[in-house]
Amino acid sequence: MINQNSFSDKIVLVTGAAAGIGEATARAFAAQGAKVVLADIDKNGELVAQDICAQDNLAVFHTCDVSDTKSVKALFAFIQDSFGHLDIAFNNAGIDIESGKLAEGSEDVFDKIMDVNVKGVWLCMQQEIRSMLKTGGGCIVNTASVAGLGAAPKMSIYAASKHAVVGLTKSAAIEYAKKGIRVNAICPAVIDTNMYRRALAGDEKKAHAIGTMHPVGRVGTVEEVVGAVLYLCSDSAGFTTGTTLPVDGGSTAI
Ligand code: NAD
Repeated sequence: MINQNSFSDKIVLVTGAAAGIGEATARAFAAQGAKVVLADIDKNGELVAQDICAQDNLAVFHTCDVSDTKSVKALFAFIQDSFGHLDIAFNNAGIDIESGKLAEGSEDVFDKIMDVNVKGVWLCMQQEIRSMLKTGGGCIVNTASVAGLGAAPKMSIYAASKHAVVGLTKSAAIEYAKKGIRVNAICPAVIDTNMYRRALAGDEKKAHAIGTMHPVGRVGTVEEVVGAVLYLCSDSAGFTTGTTLPVDGGSTAI
């Protein structure tokens, strides 16, 4: 069970926190007593942090491009100076760009996707693990995707990036299992966020087709992803590490 104050006084980092899954998760951690650092390239994260504080919870925003080493180092220096340690990290920042069939993809798109989705997660995990080793442990959740578990036609570069997130997750989980650091990934199917709405471009027929692609007959909500992340970061998941949890309306069961 996740109690109302399960994350009291925990220091939590959420990347990609200015919108969508990251924003909803940052709000949920803060509502359960955590002190949340929201990181994003989008300065809207500042407004989200202000809104969380207006509800008597604690959050700060720090601009960070997760694909940039200097920017990531500055984020972790900020966390160290402000809070002294880090308990939980949700590495969620990510981008998707349709790349066409494999033979049609461009090097530019490949580099962009890999820089954010793979290098970004790797850079953040390095800093998080170094910090958590000093305090005897912590918990990391990475946002992969069902595209990290199977095929994603016309999105092969995105799929490769999310398979890489799964690889980073499982490897780190084993490397640090005895050091008190749990590392898991969530694998959402289509979730109703800006990312999904951009891909949809207002096409209602496409929305219907995408919804019914999921065995439950609809796309997921950010709240349904938040539940999975909070569970993996809670003491209830104390024996759970190296997993890739589908949050997918049954998609991977087919
Ligand atoms: P979103 O576009 O609503 O939010 C993504 C956030 O990441 C944005 O605030 C954006 O500014 C931020 N971001 C992008 N590049 C960044 C960078 N270089 N540094 C820091 N922040 C950066 O999308 P979302 O749907 O909430 O996606 C969150 C994560 O979930 C992504 O990793 C995405 O791949 C994954 N995901 C989404 C879906 C879906 O259907 N929405 C499905 C599976 C996985």
